[in-house]
Amino acid sequence: MLRMLIIGAHPDDADYAAGGTAALYRAAGHVVHMVSLTNGDAGHHEQPGPKLAERRRKEAAAAGAVIGATYQLFDIHDGELLPTLENRWRVIHLIRTFDPDLILTHRPNDYHPDHRYTSQLVQDAAYMITVPAVVPGTKHLLKNPAIAYLPDDFQKPCPFAPTVAVDVGPVLDKIVDMLHCHVSQFYEWLAYNTQTLDQVPKSDGARRAWLGEQVKARLRRAADRFRSQLIQCYGPERGKKVEYAEAFEPCEYGAPLDDAAARRLFPFVFGKET
Ligand SMILES: [Zn+2]
Repeated sequence: MLRMLIIGAHPDDADYAAGGTAALYRAAGHVVHMVSLTNGDAGHHEQPGPKLAERRRKEAAAAGAVIGATYQLFDIHDGELLPTLENRWRVIHLIRTFDPDLILTHRPNDYHPDHRYTSQLVQDAAYMITVPAVVPGTKHLLKNPAIAYLPDDFQKPCPFAPTVAVDVGPVLDKIVDMLHCHVSQFYEWLAYNTQTLDQVPKSDGARRAWLGEQVKARLRRAADRFRSQLIQCYGPERGKKVEYAEAFEPCEYGAPLDDAAARRLFPFVFGKET
């Protein structure tokens, strides 16, 4: 059984960027723990603060429950995450106690400071989790887990360069169901922030369909963008046909995500190792 830890900055980042892979993990009987290093309490135009944090905690828990994963929110204010020593210790404690085979997190260059510092904190924790004298109250790990980055569109200093691409078509409905739980985000805050509030349907069913179209369009673009990796991972026959994809780039500070590791950590992509 594999253990995957997705560490995002906000209470919808993990399922937004890797919800399909998380769903495939769970469907195969593996363990998934999603974490938000902030409590999301700045993500609203009308209702910021503790009530929003509570609302987002419940939304995240519901999203996790869709696939049988846990979703944990740290009590750090949204928009105020910093790569402090104290926060590094908390991330070390988190990784050590969950003991993952694979960690997914943001890349270090990103538009949002919370995303940048989440990545920084995971990178800062990566080696230290094996050092007994660091955070001595929590038993150290004997080796690093593999670490991989979640996809983004940023080009500088270098564009996203995945080595693993995942066909998430079989779990598309699960992805939409998870994101549909984040009502405060997809139907309120992000719609306000992108000035599309007037386009949000009123009924629950119409909203889910509206969100589903956006999710499909995004994952379809990803499949086209990562077509060569899909062909590499699935072979030409299936790789060319994949409609919806997620992809991941190895982080050099984790255990090597070489071919053998990728086959072990993404068994539903490469099939059983021969
Ligand atoms: Zn975020």
